[in-house]
Amino acid sequence: MTNTNAVETAKTLWHKQRVKRLVRSRLGQGTPCLVFVCETVCTDRDCPGPAIEVRVVDLGLRERRFSIHKPLSGVAAADITAAL
Ligand SMILES: [Zn+2]
Repeated sequence: MTNTNAVETAKTLWHKQRVKRLVRSRLGQGTPCLVFVCETVCTDRDCPGPAIEVRVVDLGLRERRFSIHKPLSGVAAADITAAL
């Protein structure tokens, strides 16, 4: 792994944690759930870039899933609020 790759990996991990925190704070800090965030290729032809997929699973295994059409680093609290 080159140094540049290591930095990119670190950035991606950092942003994943950041987005997970945004989702959790939007849901309410005490809400027990699992939050998964992954970057994905958008299948919408009119969409220029990468998208992220968020999955929220509660303890009853009910799943909520949504996409945000932005790169991971561009996701803001307002995007989470709009999506949830
Ligand atoms: Zn898209």
